Amino acid sequence: MERKLTCIICPLGCPLTVELADGKVVKVTGNTCKRGEAYANNECTNPQRTVTSTVICTDGCPVAVKTEGTIPKDKVFECMEIINKIVAPLPVRIGDVLATDVFGTNIVATANRD
Ligand code: SF4
Repeated sequence: MERKLTCIICPLGCPLTVELADGKVVKVTGNTCKRGEAYANNECTNPQRTVTSTVICTDGCPVAVKTEGTIPKDKVFECMEIINKIVAPLPVRIGDVLATDVFGTNIVATANRD
């Protein structure tokens, strides 16, 4: 089986062709550097995503948040359900942890709110 991907690690956006056998990556072509090969391996075997969103603060207005690290791609919907239940106490500072241990990472603020 063959899968086409675009490497998103740097702005060059190399078009990758990944050959898979029994769910395993056997060959990656089209990458300009090793990072593209690693990206293709991860994307085909254990895709991860950073989630960005907003949460409501105690004054009813939103503040921007993101996952501190990446989470499995198939957990993004559940992660959004958790994020949607957060009410951030004011004031909020960039980097404040608003939820812990969400699929192995934290939800942190990416903006200040007073
Ligand atoms: S393969 Fe390397 S050069 Fe190409 S987009 Fe990915 S990181 Fe950039």
